[in-house]
Amino acid sequence: MRRIGVLTSGGDAPGMNAAIRAVVRYAIYRNIEVLGIKKGYKGLIENDIKHMDLSSVADIIHRGGTILGTDRCEEFKTEEGFNKALDNIRYRDIDGIIVIGGDGSFQGARKLSLAGIPTIGIPGTIDNDLAYTEYTLGFNTALNTILDSISKIRDTSSSHERTNIIEVMGRNCGDLALYSGLAGGAEVVIIPEAPIDMDTICETIMRGKARGKKHSIIMLAEGSGNAYELKDAITNKFDVNIRCTVLGYIQRGGTPSAYDRLLGSRLGAKGAELLVGGTGNVVLGTKDNVIFNMDIDEALKIEKQFDYEAYELTKILSM
Ligand code: ATP
Repeated sequence: MRRIGVLTSGGDAPGMNAAIRAVVRYAIYRNIEVLGIKKGYKGLIENDIKHMDLSSVADIIHRGGTILGTDRCEEFKTEEGFNKALDNIRYRDIDGIIVIGGDGSFQGARKLSLAGIPTIGIPGTIDNDLAYTEYTLGFNTALNTILDSISKIRDTSSSHERTNIIEVMGRNCGDLALYSGLAGGAEVVIIPEAPIDMDTICETIMRGKARGKKHSIIMLAEGSGNAYELKDAITNKFDVNIRCTVLGYIQRGGTPSAYDRLLGSRLGAKGAELLVGGTGNVVLGTKDNVIFNMDIDEALKIEKQFDYEAYELTKILSM
């Protein structure tokens, strides 16, 4: 292998830059040339590809987002788009590719591998919705961002004796809401994995008020509904002072945490090491903080296990 490519695809996530830096520097250390593919699979189709050197990844380890840009490219899913991408890969003599993204991006990586381009997937998404690995790149930073917001909202909720609904990202995965709820001392956590009825939500808030709680926090995963609709549903049941906060894109940005910088660096270097050694069609993950690789098909078949213990603990501790 002489020349590899690296791209980021899907939603951006803090720590992607640390991973790009590690791919580039590790490959150069092994005398392999690296090309940076801009805006995910779109860059492959449009031949928007640039040579990367040591200084092109200088001063990025602490930056959120991705210096390569990212996109959701529908054209890559079509036969025509995919073939254009393949033509450009061959034209640029790219021997293998590292794809940093989520499950959709891994589907694209799988197709490239099947077409003869060894490809390695690095899990990069704040949602933590990839079942085969403990943590995805960006999840830890997003969790800390949410926690920081919970702390601030708590202060003002307490002063005004309010209930706050905080809606967070995660698509169909409740991890961001669940773990920020546990770490932030939320009274109620509403996630797709554990549907909860309106009476239980109302009873929990009323019980807290009755024993003198000055405020309540309800963590709502975006996959379980909308904060304003939930507020209306609760206030239709009983008289309570509720405010809503939809955290939105603030969760995707910001300087990556130490954990995500370490994870990005380790995953990036391991990805480059494996690719340079001829391995393809695998994704990287961590178990008990050790990096492993797994066949893409196998990894995508694994279903996410619900952390029932964390969910129950949240309820017990917010009595
Ligand atoms: P996130 O978790 O942040 O949403 P993701 O990687 O799951 O990240 P998607 O939008 O699902 O995000 O996918 C990113 C891109 O991967 C798509 O825009 C498309 O270019 C490519 N992709 C997704 N699914 C496929 C597929 N079945 N075949 C080929 N390419 C795909």
